[in-house]
Amino acid sequence: MTDLGQDAVDLCRALVRRPSVTPQDAGAQEALAARLRQAGFSVESVTFSAPGTPDVVNLFARFGEGAPHFAFAGHTDVVPPGDLARWRSDPFAAEIDGGEIIGRGVVDMKGAIAAFAAAAASFCARGPFKGSISLLITGDEEGPAINGTEKLLAWAAERGARFDHCLVGEPTNPDALGDMIKIGRRGSLNGTLTVTGRQGHVAYPQRADNPIPAAMRLAQALAAPPLDAGTALFDPSNLEIVSFDVGNPAFNVIPAQARARFNIRFNDHWTPQSLAAELQTRAARAAQGADFALAFEPCNALAFVTEPDAFVGLVAGAVERTTGRRPKLSTSGGTSDARFIRAYCPVLEFGLVGQTMHMVDERAPAAEIGALAAIYEAVLDDYFRVFAHG
Ligand SMILES: [Zn+2]
Repeated sequence: MTDLGQDAVDLCRALVRRPSVTPQDAGAQEALAARLRQAGFSVESVTFSAPGTPDVVNLFARFGEGAPHFAFAGHTDVVPPGDLARWRSDPFAAEIDGGEIIGRGVVDMKGAIAAFAAAAASFCARGPFKGSISLLITGDEEGPAINGTEKLLAWAAERGARFDHCLVGEPTNPDALGDMIKIGRRGSLNGTLTVTGRQGHVAYPQRADNPIPAAMRLAQALAAPPLDAGTALFDPSNLEIVSFDVGNPAFNVIPAQARARFNIRFNDHWTPQSLAAELQTRAARAAQGADFALAFEPCNALAFVTEPDAFVGLVAGAVERTTGRRPKLSTSGGTSDARFIRAYCPVLEFGLVGQTMHMVDERAPAAEIGALAAIYEAVLDDYFRVFAHG
């Protein structure tokens, strides 16, 4: 393995050994900060608080000054390991077995964070360049995401940081390193349908009004037909009923109310407002006089896309040069902190292979973490060659 690869692997293992299950940090960010300071970065640790949520520690590190300003973004927090007995080895020991590092967060996404730091350190050590490199690292991505990236971006902007482009290290590849760059994400909206009838004895249905048949009819009307057929850069939007609740323990009572909860993953054809209006229309058409209400939770995940341009081409080129694979440009999958970054600058996501994220025996080949560091360094090479003129 190259020195760069070994550096990334060593740092990944050091990070995994800090059990930073959201909202704990357990020294993970200090381990990263130490490596970045050694490479000449100035590092600041910022803790954000909000009522009803745990305090979260975040890290902002910067090398150089001025434009162009390239940012790596990611999170050091991890999801809980689950049943320890089912792990091949301790999830926080970062043991290597058959060339693979095993541990919670290796894939999502301490491997990528380590690759960021190793690539940036190597690039900065090779000599002066025009511009700056930052790392925006939160400890609140897997949790409520309230005291994390969104606040860290605002905090950095208040202090004069202007980001030109950003790369997030979420695991984006379905099967092999180099498969896929995420250029955007679908939005996510949660809603509840409530149908109100009148409670009564099942033997006297004429005196009651059962809300369940209407709730079933309305739920089906919300879910079909399809919301759209997809757009140029997105799959079709999808509404999924995730719960249907009456909560009636009795066989001889017609209940008063029925509820269905649903989630919509939507593309750039929609806003939360236009979706709410469409669903209201669908429900009203199917109601046949039933007393229904639709309610939506606040939406902080709009659909967004970074249109293929010079930056997208540059990152795709660096991936292809290093791995020999031409990455697919995709907007599939769940939401990520990229939804907050897009308000500041164009943002892409590229990281490890995602197959074992959040699972027991989360793992990645050490060689792939080294290869990811080589890709990130190639991105920095190309970025400052292309964008740092004048
Ligand atoms: Zn993640």
